This record gives sequence, C-alpha cells and structure tokens, in this order.
Amino acid sequence: MKKTRVVLSFPPSRVEDPIIYHLIKDHGLVVNILRATIDPGKQGRMVVDLNGEENEVSVGLNYLESMGVSVEPLGEELKHVEERCTSCTACVPICPTGALDVNRQDWLVHYDSAKCIVCLSCIEVCPYKAMEESLR
Ligand code: SF4
Ligand code: SF4
Repeated sequence: MKKTRVVLSFPPSRVEDPIIYHLIKDHGLVVNILRATIDPGKQGRMVVDLNGEENEVSVGLNYLESMGVSVEPLGEELKHVEERCTSCTACVPICPTGALDVNRQDWLVHYDSAKCIVCLSCIEVCPYKAMEESLR
C-alpha cells in the first residue's frame, strides 16, 4: 500500500465533475481530502492523500491528468521564511500535525513540510509573516 500526498488543481470546466468519486469507485483508491477550495465556475484546488497499490495510484494519477486535473507533489506549498522567523513559538500549539515544532537541540522553530497538511493556520497566526503560501 502506497500513500501519495499531492495537490490537485481543477480547471473551471471540471470543478463540478465527480472526478474524486471515479477515482475511488473506478480506480480503487482511498482518498483522504486534507484541504479543498473549490468554487463553482472557478479553479479548484485540493490537497489529498491517495492510498492504494503502486500501480493503482499510478493509473489514478493518469486518470486525473486525462481529465485535465493538474497533479503536483506536496512539499513546496508553504515556505518557512527563516530570516523572518523569530522562533516566537506562536504557531507551534496551533499546528495540528507537529509540522512546526521546537528543535530541542537549537531551540529554534523548524518546519517539516512532510508533516504539513496545508491548513494555513500558521499563516494567520504568525506575527512576522514568516509562513508564506508559495503556490496559488
Ligand atoms: S509564529 Fe512565525 S515567527 Fe513565530 S515561530 Fe512560528 S513561523 Fe516563526
Ligand atoms: S499549514 Fe497547518 S499543518 Fe502546515 S505548518 Fe501551518 S499550521 Fe502546521
């Protein structure tokens, strides 16, 4: 079983199509939606975990691309601007996954993109604008 975390961008013409339904029903993937911003008539974006056997994930990704959905790996969604970060720790308790945490060796706040689910709570709470959304 493989888990792949990706960002899906839906063109306006596909936003209302049951693409996730077919990904689950026809391609056998377990889809965990971590974040979705989809408005009818506009581009939509989703951060999802796709769970399935390697070949199923691969076929599912091909299906998405054939439907005009762009698929990008998660990892560069958010940027931790270290020059602005004062390690004030305001973001640490509100981060639901521990992606922002204090490193016990240098006592600085570090960002682990592999744990981030792009909930954006840190962007709202950071007083120094040290967390930036890099894809829009
Ligand atoms: S809230 Fe901002 S400045 Fe404070 S530790 Fe988090 S990222 Fe750094
Ligand atoms: S976006 Fe959410 S999960 Fe990611 S680092 Fe910020 S608070 Fe944590």
